[in-house]
Amino acid sequence: MIKVFEDFDITLVGHYQSVLESNGIDTFMKNQFGTSGAGELPFVEVIPQLWVLNENDAGQARELIAELSGPLSAEQLQAWTCPECGTQLEAVFTNCWKCSSSRPSVTAQN
Ligand SMILES: [Zn+2]
Repeated sequence: MIKVFEDFDITLVGHYQSVLESNGIDTFMKNQFGTSGAGELPFVEVIPQLWVLNENDAGQARELIAELSGPLSAEQLQAWTCPECGTQLEAVFTNCWKCSSSRPSVTAQN
């Protein structure tokens, strides 16, 4: 088995699992119920993990996850403001259409 994704957001891991399954990839989720033990166990033991059973599927699985975690992630569905020129931008833009500045990383914000 190959681990292709992990996140504390069990909903996100489950979503990716369903997408991979719908693409014919056999998956297995580890630590599906582990978050209730957070605080007592090292987080590496409780963070939900998505594994693929067949390592030949790992490449495709990672591509699918990369697509899902790209422009379609929940954070990136929010409109944003260009830090350079102040232009209001819709969520679909990854760069400012006015000055071409890159969208700031959403994870860098609180
Ligand atoms: Zn701009």
